[in-house]
Amino acid sequence: MTDRYAVFGNPIAHSKSPQIHAAFAAATAQDLRYEALLAPLDGFAGAVADFVAAGGRGANVTVPFKEEAFRLATRLSPRAARAGAVNTLVFSGAGILGDNTDGAGLVHDITRNLTVDLAGKRILLLGAGGAARGVIQPLLAEAPAALHIANRSADKAVALAQAFADLAAVSGGSFSDLAGLPFDVVINATSASLAGEPLPLPTGLFAPGCLAYDMMYGKGETPFLAQARLAGAARCADGLGMLAEQAAEAFLVWRGVRPATAGVLATLRAALAG
Ligand code: NDP
Repeated sequence: MTDRYAVFGNPIAHSKSPQIHAAFAAATAQDLRYEALLAPLDGFAGAVADFVAAGGRGANVTVPFKEEAFRLATRLSPRAARAGAVNTLVFSGAGILGDNTDGAGLVHDITRNLTVDLAGKRILLLGAGGAARGVIQPLLAEAPAALHIANRSADKAVALAQAFADLAAVSGGSFSDLAGLPFDVVINATSASLAGEPLPLPTGLFAPGCLAYDMMYGKGETPFLAQARLAGAARCADGLGMLAEQAAEAFLVWRGVRPATAGVLATLRAALAG
């Protein structure tokens, strides 16, 4: 029988996950079906229960349900427990396992696809929301020289840094604290681009050879990457690779095989350019 998987979100029609997982299934000869399911804003748990009752084996979870999925899970992977959010669910007789593949996806994209080694690098993470929180532990696992978090609401960045202080030296503060601090990798995990607002970044932020990475992606250059390029970032990358890699990581959790992403990434990139 064909195994069923789904992504839950609201809205969800825009999701590229069904296309990505269909490509992965074809490439790895796995017999599965993956669909996008709209969950009511007040009915996420019910929608998941219905899917499980209908034979669902696993699911991805996107905006705005990642925290609710965290609470719904009966068991958590260590990385999901740290992230405080779940983007991947596994349904079995043992209950609901909650995992989070966003951070692994980001790190895989940076270190493998972009071939940037994070060991010994000075990393700046912009933003202190759910996406930022989800990637901190996987970034620290790469043994950077430093990880600093900057956020519009500085108190949130400081609190987030403290939440991971047992793992490594992590610091947090406001954008104005960044003056005179160069970084080797600058990752935008804010949603400022959605509002079309530039970030208040000081000059000299991008060290020579710096990679600027925007978790956001879209048609053309994102506002953050345009800002970074003008400010001297040597390399720029958007979050399309992270999207494909977090999906590959979820596929691995469900099926025990990690699909190659280059083909699907090229297809997604071409669709955005078209
Ligand atoms: P949240 O709403 O949880 O957090 C938003 C963050 O952006 C906060 O730190 C907030 O600061 C900051 N922010 C919002 N507006 C501005 C602004 N005008 N100026 C400066 N900072 C601002 O969102 P998420 O963390 O869930 O998502 C963040 C981004 O990451 C989104 O663009 C999302 O699409 C992307 N993403 C991409 C993924 C991928 O696979 N490529 C996966 C997950 C997320 P404050 O605390 O002060 O409000």
